[in-house]
Formats: sequence, structure tokens, C-alpha cells
Amino acid sequence: MRPAILFPLFADTATLSGVGPKLAQLMGKAAGTRIGDLLFHLPSGVIDRSWRPALIDADEGRVATFTLNVLDHVPRRDPRQPYRVRCSDETSAVELVFFHAKAEYLARTLPVGTKRIVSGRIERFGGRLQIVHPDYIVSPEQADQLPPYEPVYRLTENLPPKALAKAVRGALEKLPELPEWQDKAWLAARGWPSFGGAIRSAHAPQLENDLDPNAPARARLAFDELLANQLALALIRKRLRVRKGRSFIGDGKRVALARTALPFALTKAQEEVLVEIKADMQATSRMLRLLQGDVGAGKTIVAMLAMLNAIEAGSQAALMAPTEILARQHFAALEPLAEAAGVRMSVLTGRERGRTREQILGALAEGRIDILVGTHALFSEGVEFRDLGLAVVDEQHRFGVHQRLQLQGRGEMPADVLVMTATPIPRTLALTAYGDMDVSRLVGLPPGRKPVDTRLVSAERLEEVTEHLRHAIANGGRAFWVCPLIAESEKTDLAAAEDRAATLTRTFGDVIGLIHGRMKPAERDAAMERFREGRTRVLVATTVIEVGVDVPEATIMVVEHAERFGLAQLHQLRGRVGRGKDRATCLLVYQPPLGETAKARLKTLRETNDGFVIAEEDLRLRGAGELLGTRQSGMPDFRLADLTVHGELLAAARDDARLIVERDPELAGERGLALRVLLYLFERDEAVRYLRAG
Ligand code: ADP
Ligand code: MG
Repeated sequence: MRPAILFPLFADTATLSGVGPKLAQLMGKAAGTRIGDLLFHLPSGVIDRSWRPALIDADEGRVATFTLNVLDHVPRRDPRQPYRVRCSDETSAVELVFFHAKAEYLARTLPVGTKRIVSGRIERFGGRLQIVHPDYIVSPEQADQLPPYEPVYRLTENLPPKALAKAVRGALEKLPELPEWQDKAWLAARGWPSFGGAIRSAHAPQLENDLDPNAPARARLAFDELLANQLALALIRKRLRVRKGRSFIGDGKRVALARTALPFALTKAQEEVLVEIKADMQATSRMLRLLQGDVGAGKTIVAMLAMLNAIEAGSQAALMAPTEILARQHFAALEPLAEAAGVRMSVLTGRERGRTREQILGALAEGRIDILVGTHALFSEGVEFRDLGLAVVDEQHRFGVHQRLQLQGRGEMPADVLVMTATPIPRTLALTAYGDMDVSRLVGLPPGRKPVDTRLVSAERLEEVTEHLRHAIANGGRAFWVCPLIAESEKTDLAAAEDRAATLTRTFGDVIGLIHGRMKPAERDAAMERFREGRTRVLVATTVIEVGVDVPEATIMVVEHAERFGLAQLHQLRGRVGRGKDRATCLLVYQPPLGETAKARLKTLRETNDGFVIAEEDLRLRGAGELLGTRQSGMPDFRLADLTVHGELLAAARDDARLIVERDPELAGERGLALRVLLYLFERDEAVRYLRAG
């Protein structure tokens, strides 16, 4: 249970005075809906209004504060013109310029003949100094209403900056005094403030330097967040390790049979990974291993042989895929091997219902099924294995750490766990998301793969893409066409894809398929099947996931609005083609104009096929938060830490977390109790549940 001391931070922002439902909603978009979210919404800039030059000394383009005499008003003559108020100080004249302002309001705020303190960005227009829409106009008596330094926050459309700033001030008042969870000596050595001090000072920057992620306040907060992340992983890891695993030692017979049935030999990398996995399975502690490897690197075969190893040792195995399509694809791909090895394999997804489901569950409980392939339905209520020895999770991008932790944490599942991911995760990120696991990397691709020819195409040259498709279709080829995620709205994604499918149908006739997240699984499978069989030649898809499938005949991948995707996602998409014998093309269609970073990102993709290089580059160019696209990343979202600059802090947090768990595994000491507050603060509640008196 969340400690009461944190309640104020988890309260709705609408409970702040002056915050109504409308404002709360807008702030929800920009920062979050809870008071703590506002506190974690750190300024992205600072306006220094303490600079008070004479007009003649003012640097144009810079914000400054002036004491001005109001000379006269120049109301607009026609509505397109601005309303102007002429002012001066001892050195020069200046015009205050207002568009759409009410004359009556201006007469009240800027009475002719009075002095006013005016703050805003000073500019020169046609030889005259002017301030368009000053930020502040106050009388000399109200001078204290003008903040000398003003934090600037990331906004969302229609969110008034002052309203957000005021809400943040309100949130700061609710900030409780929290116990210190960091090591005191470490804080002193770094010169870091307390948590409360850090939050308050992070919201009160005065210099650009204060915004530096390594400024003491910000570094402290980043470290808090990273420590919460690493401590949660360390606790879970510890808990899972102490639970004894079993030793699986196979006789090698079924593995050998499957190997003989393979039309190829395993690569050296595959063999090495297999050795690691077998050693883990043989050990009496539980296996928790992450198998990282690019799309098409050949992870599935490795997993299959590991599952056969478990079966030889007398138990069952499960393979969980992120989507129904992928589950069925795995099933189809592995069936011949299962047959060759003489093991019984079934598939279970949300689609198996009623009698079928019952039969499968019955067979599973009695041990008449050796391998069960499926979606997360595998671990739903009522599914019981007679003796599950190995659970393989093929997570592509779909499962977040969260789900994985849940899965591993299930007491009733003391099986070895092998997680496969095609996400090439840079080392720093791997630590934050998979710090609880051992990692194997499957480097390189099986022999004979031809790199995909990747090209950048401006959306203005879409006909060239169409021409390319026409040529390919005429030669019996097939293509994926991916439409992007548009903001958060699935509806518009769908509309974009439907429009595209309609346009393509007008051009190419009745050979265009469409697949999207809103379809029923059966419809989706049917669309997929038509494409696989070649009855449709171009498959338009809304999201990455639906095309996570093997169709060797597909040689073209078109991605619209490629600039909106994470590089890793694009790389995944590209991996969907070029699996057959023909050379494949990936056309990344972008919407011009393309910014420098966007250009650099897409170029990386054109220049390399190595997923790890791409991921490192993307991390460098964009930062971790965006790295894999928000929706599918499954990566922890850091709000205070920035992995591109806080790599060193992350390593320190990991070491600290290990030390803590070693010394005070139940977080029962004084610092331990404070650390529980930290875990709750950053919503690592699941980790606290592993503690005895959680
Ligand atoms: P991943 O799961 O890593 O994306 P898969 O296991 O699906 O990759 O393998 C991709 C393709 O490569 C499959 O068609 C598979 O049969 C093939 N493959 C796997 N290992 C080898 C190998 N050693 N030599 C040749 N082809 C291989
Ligand atoms: Mg795979």
C-alpha cells in the first residue's frame, strides 16, 4: 500500500485551487493528471526578467523589463491592424503592440500619463522599438507581482503558460517533507540537496546553467528516478533467484532429431547462445535470460531447441508471442520440427474457446501436450501445465517490463524463463529495462541474407513509389505499405490507412489488402492469409505489429511518414522484407521539410543494417524517451533522468541498488523504509510487493 505521506502527490491536479476540469485536462496532456506529475514536469527554460536596461541599451530579441511612461494610444483603424500604445523612457521611445486586444482593457491597464513596468521581448520593426504582447504590465506599486525569473514549461495546445506555472506553484505547496532515501555521505559528496529542496530548486531556475541535466537539483532527481528503477529490478531479481529452480538435463535425442530436420546448420552465434542457455537450464538456480538478436537473426530456432531440451528432461515448455498472428506463425514454423522431434505441440490464443479450449487445457494438465504456443492467453486463469519447465517469451516490442515482471513474479510459475527480443537495445537501456536478467546476444544474421536496399523518398515523389510497386506487382512481387501512427488517435490512423488503401486500389485494382488493429482477429488472419497466398499483392497496415510476419515473397516495404517512427521500429519493419531469395527494397517516405536530426536519423538507416548501431545512433540523436516510439517501446519512461546524459548515474544507481539489496534485502532499516517511499513515489509498487512486510 502506498504510504499516506505520498497521498498529496497522487491527488488529482483538479484538487488544486484555481484548477478546473478544463485546465486539469490540458495539463494532463502536457504533464500528467496528478500533482506529482506537475512536480516532475521540470522547466525547459527560464526567462530572466531581472534585466532592466534603458531602452537605448536593450538587446533586440531578448526579454527585458522596462519602466515606461505611457504617452498615448493609437487605436486600430481597421481590424487587421494592431492596437498600439506609445511609451518612452529617458532614452528612447517604444511601441507596445496588441493584436485582437480590447481597447477598454488597454485603457485600464495603460492609462495615458502614468508609469508602468513592462516586461517582454523587445524587437525592432521598421526602425522602431516595439514589444508585441508584453508578458507583464504592472504599476510601480505592484512591482512585486513581476517575477524576476520565470520558469518556462513545455505546454500543450491551448494551455496558458501562466496557468500552468501557477498550478505548479500550487503543487509545490503540497509537496510533503519526505524521509531521505539517499545515502547521506553520497549526497554530501555530490553537493546535492534533499528531494524537496531539489524539486523546489529545479522549478526555480535563474540561469541557463540551472537547466543543465547535471545541475545539482536535476542530477539528484534523475538519480532518485534511476535508483527507484534499479532497486525495483534488483529486488525482483533477488526474489526470483532465491526461489530454487530445477536442473534440466536432456539426453539430446530430440534436439538431434530437430537439428537433422533443419534445412540449414546453426550459425556459430546460435550454437554459442544455445550453450549458454543449456548451462543455465542445467544449473539449479532459475534461468532468467534475455536473448537479444536482430529481426531474422534466428532466435526462434534457438528457443525451439531449448524447449526440446526441457522436454527431454521430462517437462513441458511454452512459447508466448505478443500477437495472435505471431503465435500462429511460430506454430506453423515450428510444427515440422516438433514432428521431426516427436513432440506434441498445440496453439492457444484468445480465439480457442469452448470445447477446443477445454480439450487443450485438459491435455496440457495431463501432460499430453509438450509445447504450447500462444499469446498471453497462455498465462490466463485456468491454464495449468502438468509441469512447465521452460517459458519462452517472444516479446518483439509488445510486452513492457511491467508485464514481464508480472509473468516472472507468478509464484505458480517456477519455470526457467527465456525472453527473446528483437529490439536492439543499447547497453545503457538494457540495464534499465532488463537489469534483472542475464543477457545473450545473437550477433549477425544467418548466411545468405542480402541487405535490404533502403531509400529515402520525399512524399512529393510518391509517384515514384507507385511506379516501383507497379513494376514489382507485374513481376509477381508483394509489398507492405505501412501508414504511421498519428498522434494518439487510432481513428485517424485507421482513416489514413483506409484512404491509402483506397488510392492504391484505384491505381492497381483489386489487389490491395488492408490490416489494422481494430479488425477482429479472424478478419486479420484472413487478410494476412490472402496476402500470403498472393491474392492481394500490397498489404496496407496501420501499425508495426500487424506486419510482424514472415512472407518471403514480400520484397518491398513502404513506410509513410517514416520521420515519425523510431529508428528501431523502422529497422524492424525493414526486417520484414528480404527474407526470401530476391533482393528487397525499403522505401522510407518522408514528409518534407526534414529537420537536421530527422535527416541524420533516416540516413543512419540507409547506411547500416546493424540493429545495434542503429539503436546507439538513435539514442544519441533522440534520447531514450523517444527511442523506440512511445507506444511499443516497453521501455521505462524516465521523466527526470535522461539516459543520453545520465549514463554514469545509471551505473551508480545500479551499484547502489545491489549494495542496498545485499545489506537490507527487506528494506527494513531506516534507509530501507525511506527507500520504500522512493519506490512508491516512482510507482515501482510491484517491487515493494516482494518485500516481506510490503
Ligand atoms: P528471429 O526470430 O530472430 O526474428 P527467426 O528465428 O524467425 O528469426 O529466423 C529467421 C529466418 O532465418 C527463418 O526463416 C529461419 O528459418 C532462418 N534461419 C534461422 N537460423 C538460420 C541459419 N542458421 N541458417 C539459415 N537460415 C536460418
Ligand atoms: Mg522471431
